[in-house]
Amino acid sequence: MAKAGRLAAGVRRPGRAVIVTDSNVDLLYSDKLAASLREAGFDAVKFVFPAGEKSKNASTLLSLLNFMAESRLTRIDTVFALGGGVVGDLAGLAASLYMRGVGLVQLPTTLLAAVDSSVGGKTAVDLPAGKNLMGAFYQPDLVICDTDTLGTLPEAEFSNGCAEVIKYGFIRDAAILNMLGNRPVDEIISRCVAIKRDIVTADEHDRGERQLLNFGHTFGHAIETCSGYTIPHGSAVAAGMVIMTTAAIKKGLCDAGSLGLLKSALRACGLSVEVHYTYAELFDTILSDKKRSSDRIKLVIPRRVGLCELIEVSLNEAREFLRLGLGGT
Ligand code: ADP
Ligand code: ZN
Repeated sequence: MAKAGRLAAGVRRPGRAVIVTDSNVDLLYSDKLAASLREAGFDAVKFVFPAGEKSKNASTLLSLLNFMAESRLTRIDTVFALGGGVVGDLAGLAASLYMRGVGLVQLPTTLLAAVDSSVGGKTAVDLPAGKNLMGAFYQPDLVICDTDTLGTLPEAEFSNGCAEVIKYGFIRDAAILNMLGNRPVDEIISRCVAIKRDIVTADEHDRGERQLLNFGHTFGHAIETCSGYTIPHGSAVAAGMVIMTTAAIKKGLCDAGSLGLLKSALRACGLSVEVHYTYAELFDTILSDKKRSSDRIKLVIPRRVGLCELIEVSLNEAREFLRLGLGGT
């Protein structure tokens, strides 16, 4: 964190800096970040909102935009998103909107944000009708990942991020599965970020290859929705990956050993994959997904650990995948 100001000054002219953070991360790291920014010549102010997904809404977004205006931010100034995915999404969207775009530096403090949401430029807030419905693609000028901050992250939040790490292992890089618990977290994060960078560079706006990053997410989102978001994202994605891998094996599309490797990697990270919903309940939520635009659906199918493929299927076929896969959780 001590280097953040210097690093930011390398890409943004030191002017006004708005540190956006939540009530937990504020107590831990915002003073350190503010001191580092001031030392590098930035004039830092901060906007703190209550921690939790509930804050990721249009009302917090508007308060933040008003705060930026009251702080007399101009186009040359910079937003610093210090926190997990909620902070990154909200601050990123505000940075994209204010004066049609100001500088943005992401400083992820959760494993999930480090390997996933801080990279790739997706920003959003939730609407009453669903998650992430109001958003924009807006690339940060810089992502500073200080892995020391992960030392204070609650274990359950760390596990949450591990689900995404395992996802990267499955879609691109089998070696990642053996790294969890054996290699320094910096190394694991770099490897995941490199994969995400390559995929996003090839398909920034999520029209093709980027959808590979949804491995485990189609059914995972259905589980999250059914639970009223009481099941954490990581556990839901973990179960979603198991469902998809089980179904793919039963259909003869995936190497049979993959399921054991997936389950033991998830277990090692403390991720449970029990699902207490029927396939009919889960499928209903997929049918009512407001983001779905046609009667076909793209699924990410594992072929083996390290290789996934995108296929488009009818809703009936997707239902069959879900039915077959649920047997495996
Ligand atoms: P995610 O990255 O999983 O979307 P959130 O932004 O929802 O994460 O953050 C998850 C929780 O962890 C929040 O309560 C947040 O305040 C807290 N948090 C984030 N980073 C840290 C950290 N480094 N140490 C302690 N708590 C943190
Ligand atoms: Zn995810």
